[in-house]
Amino acid sequence: MKSRSEQGRVHRLAFDVDWPPGHVACYLVDGPEPILVDAATPDREAAFRDRLADLDFEPGDVEHVLVTHPHVDHIGQVPTVLAEGDPTVHAPAGVRERFARDPDDLAARVRHNCVAAGFPEDLRETAVEMAVDSLERDSALLNPDRVDVWLDPGERATVGGLAVEAVHVPGHQADHLGYRTEIDGAAVLLAGDMGIEPFRPVVMHDGLDDGHREAFDAFDDALDRLAALDVDRVYPGHGPVHDDLAGVVERDRRSLADRLEGVRDLVADGHATVPAVAMTLAGDRDVRYLVPETMSALAHLERIGAVTSETVDGVRRYDA
Ligand SMILES: [Zn+2]
Repeated sequence: MKSRSEQGRVHRLAFDVDWPPGHVACYLVDGPEPILVDAATPDREAAFRDRLADLDFEPGDVEHVLVTHPHVDHIGQVPTVLAEGDPTVHAPAGVRERFARDPDDLAARVRHNCVAAGFPEDLRETAVEMAVDSLERDSALLNPDRVDVWLDPGERATVGGLAVEAVHVPGHQADHLGYRTEIDGAAVLLAGDMGIEPFRPVVMHDGLDDGHREAFDAFDDALDRLAALDVDRVYPGHGPVHDDLAGVVERDRRSLADRLEGVRDLVADGHATVPAVAMTLAGDRDVRYLVPETMSALAHLERIGAVTSETVDGVRRYDA
C-alpha cells in the first residue's frame, strides 16, 4: 500500500492498442489518495498491473478513479481496480443517462438514421450492432451502479485532495469532461481525448444516434472552452504530454473547418449521400470510424445552408 505525503507526481501509463496512434494513456496522480485518471483498455490487464508495479503500486491502492469519457480504451481496467480495492469512482453525469438507454431504442434510432442516409444493408447492420455492442460493453466496464460521484459540466469538485473543474468538451464524445486542476504548482488539464497534440480526435459525439446533428457545434463549443483555459500542461489520452493547448485548439479548429469544406466540395462534385462521401474520405482506411463524422458534417452543412437535401426513394441526397 503506497502513501505519499503530498499530491504530487503524475505518472503516464501507456498501453498498446490496435488502432492509430497505436497507444492509449491513462495517468496515476501519486499522493496520499492516489487518483487514476482513465483506465486503459480491457485486454491489457497484465500490462496495467505491470505499469502500476513499476511505480510500486497495485490496483487496490487506487483510491479515486476519474473518468473523462466512456470510450472502451479509457475505462477498460475499471473492473480490475474495483475488484481489488474500494475506490471512489467519478464520472461525467451525462454518462448515467446514456448508459440507461434502452438498447432496442438505440438500435431503432441508429437504424432509422442509417436508412435515411442510404447505407447499404451490411454497413447499416454493422453500425447498429456497433452501437448496441458499445453501449452494453461500456456500461459493463463502467458500471453506473459503481459510480460514486457524477460530475456535471462546469462543476468544481474535490477529488482525492485535488480541486478540479470539470470542463465540458463534447464533439469527440458527447459527455466528455476535461479536468482542470493544479498539480505541483502548475495548472494542468487532464484532457482525455481532447487537446491531443499529434492529431484532431474524430467527431463521434453520440455516434449515429440523433445527437450527430449537433456534433460539430458541440465540438466548437468544446474548443471555445479549451481556448479560455489557462494551463501550463496537458495530459491527454493519446500522444505526448505537452504544453501547447492553445496551438492544438487552433489546429483542431482548422481541421474541423477543412473537414466541412472537404465534405461540401465532395457534395459539389456529385457525392450525394453520406456513404458516398464517407467512402471517398476513407479511401483505403476503415470507413466505420468516419461515418459519424461524415453524417454529422452533412447535417451541420445543411443547417448552416451550405448544402441542401431532398429525400429520394427514402434516401437523403445532398446538393451543394
Ligand atoms: Zn475516445
